[in-house]
Amino acid sequence: MRIGCHVSIAGGIEKSVYRAEKLGINTMQIFSKNSRTWQEKTYSKGEISDFQEVLQKTDIFPVFIHASYLINLASSEDTIYSRSIAAFLEEMKRADQLLANKSIPFLIIHPGAHRGAGEEYGLSRISKALQIILKESSALKLSTMILLENTSGMGSSLGYNFSQLKYIIENTGYSDKIGICFDTCHAFAAGYNLAKKEGIENTLTELEREISIDK
Ligand SMILES: [Zn+2]
Repeated sequence: MRIGCHVSIAGGIEKSVYRAEKLGINTMQIFSKNSRTWQEKTYSKGEISDFQEVLQKTDIFPVFIHASYLINLASSEDTIYSRSIAAFLEEMKRADQLLANKSIPFLIIHPGAHRGAGEEYGLSRISKALQIILKESSALKLSTMILLENTSGMGSSLGYNFSQLKYIIENTGYSDKIGICFDTCHAFAAGYNLAKKEGIENTLTELEREISIDK
């Protein structure tokens, strides 16, 4: 079984691998940049090969990259929306550069928050953004796969149930390039009673019905 957690990249991205080894985990999640600023990060060839070399010597896989928290693909404000799309494309490129040599580069994203514009509007805005992103990433031949993370539904965040995630995936036109990152804490907060056996069974049944476990 693969068990891991989020690991810091402070001091250099290859440091995350040493931290993971120290923790004794065999999979991990990292950020590929500071997740709380819009500032982009470009890795040099040396930094990429150092990271890949260190990672190659371990049994740690897959490595998941979590996208920046500032990205909001549901935004009704055009400047934030286009900035989010551009930033997410940079995340897609970095994930491919850093991880494509070893396994599928997985990039985790919170779908977005509509901030009062309405759920239906927000969901279609997200699908449209992902369609633009995946069109561009396929033109660039990136192998990055997007994993939509279910949210708690706090505030106006979308993707708090499987039918919303299904709607987003189906409306991008690139459903084979999108999977799910199932956050059990968020699901519990959103009302999926994972504390009870019956709740777990119902959740898995709904997941299988709406999206399929394969995703
Ligand atoms: Zn997350």
